[in-house]
Amino acid sequence: MDRYLALELAVTIRHDGQGGVADDLETVQGLTDWVRDRAELLDARDFVADEASRVAVVAIRQGVRALFARAVSPAPPSPADAHRLLPLDQALTRINAAAALQPVTPLLDWPADTAPTSMLLPTPPDPDAAVRLTAALARAAIEFLSGPQRERLHACTAPRCVRYFIKEHGRQEWCKPSCGNRARAARHYQRRRAALEETPQTRLDAAPSVADQSR
Ligand SMILES: [Zn+2]
Repeated sequence: MDRYLALELAVTIRHDGQGGVADDLETVQGLTDWVRDRAELLDARDFVADEASRVAVVAIRQGVRALFARAVSPAPPSPADAHRLLPLDQALTRINAAAALQPVTPLLDWPADTAPTSMLLPTPPDPDAAVRLTAALARAAIEFLSGPQRERLHACTAPRCVRYFIKEHGRQEWCKPSCGNRARAARHYQRRRAALEETPQTRLDAAPSVADQSR
């Protein structure tokens, strides 16, 4: 499956499994771990975050999530930050400014028996690892949002889920099967409730609770 750094950055804001929202980049250690898990993609094997780099990456994420909200529109955006999205002009300016921090040169790679790929090499690599990181994440956002995958981006509408995801097939409604189960259970409960409300003698206490199966 293709990996998209921009999407992986966006979903560091996630459902915490208890009805709230967790942030994987809430701490400096969280950013160090997140980057090291992607060391190959980000060319950042020895990266150690500090508060300044954490703030910079969170600012990129805020821009990405504002632009993701635009990409999925008119469908609703992730509810995690729907009411405090960065204005679109600010989001664009922020992403473009971060990408411009590090000059890059395109490079064509075409090993035998495989399809050619292109990559952008920092030239010369900025000595500041945080600059290289934020610029790389901003470039990933530009590539993602200007590419065909943007049209497959969706915000999961299952109860309590706040994830953006790429639709793998046309009928996919939720980011993962557990979200589908939870959404179907909620719909079933709502239909039952509606039916019961039409017959006031019937009591509601037989309605099932909606189990949290997202984890
Ligand atoms: Zn979901």
